Amino acid sequence: MFVVGVTGGIGSGKTTVTNLFQQHDIVVVDADVIARHIMDKGGEALAAVSDRYGQQALFEDGTLNRAWLRERIFQHPEDKQWLNELTHPLIRQQILTQLQQAQSPYVILSAPLLVENRLTKLCDRVLVVDVSEATQLERTQQRDDVSADQVQSIMNAQASREQRLQAADNIINNEADEAQLVTQVEKLHELYLRLALAKRSTH
Ligand code: ATP
Repeated sequence: MFVVGVTGGIGSGKTTVTNLFQQHDIVVVDADVIARHIMDKGGEALAAVSDRYGQQALFEDGTLNRAWLRERIFQHPEDKQWLNELTHPLIRQQILTQLQQAQSPYVILSAPLLVENRLTKLCDRVLVVDVSEATQLERTQQRDDVSADQVQSIMNAQASREQRLQAADNIINNEADEAQLVTQVEKLHELYLRLALAKRSTH
């Protein structure tokens, strides 16, 4: 499978861009969605959390008390490490499964932390959605009703614009309006179709 990794900082426009690829019938695997579901009821990860912390980590219906766990790992760095070691391999495995099952000429892996979590290794090409930090701040605040400080602290925890751009094979500049994304995505879609075909013919 030919995998295109799509990344970008908070509020850069990843979802807006990947929605446009979906309109070309390209399957999008979303690492954020997978990460959110890794603690679903009945799963291996929730069982491990429940073994370690008991009932205090769960609601009465057996689902995870996310606020409790967030506070716990905030207070105990070693628990944060334990949780990462538990969840990261499971998330990676689920990503691989979904990439393998995708039924489209190529598949997109969308991940805000593609570079930070070294998911670039799973990708044939890396596409970075790029905007200035000022635009990230403005659009995220408009979308989420959060303070500039909150957005800035998330931006500080993510890779820098330069680090992301260094990992990029292709870049979509998303400073202008959404309409200009359509032609950029169309051109890249044609490119990825060609590259995916070339990869298939050499295997
Ligand atoms: P996150 O990582 O926070 O999930 P994201 O990278 O997926 O964000 P989007 O949700 O696609 O970003 O875009 C952020 C906000 O900016 C959304 O409200 C979106 O509608 C808006 N937006 C995206 N592109 C543009 C654009 N070119 N012009 C104006 N607004 C835009």
